[in-house]
Amino acid sequence: MDAYCVKCRQSREMKNTEKVTLKNGRPATRGECSVCGTKMFRIGSGT
Ligand SMILES: [Zn+2]
Repeated sequence: MDAYCVKCRQSREMKNTEKVTLKNGRPATRGECSVCGTKMFRIGSGT
């Protein structure tokens, strides 16, 4: 899935994705930018 990378300042493919659940119960996805390795975070389980 793609997510916005704050370092690249553009949408990048996210690798090492991991599904997490927020405190409010909403699903989210955590991962790393495939280009620079910066931690990324996106709301929603996504595809
Ligand atoms: Zn990046």
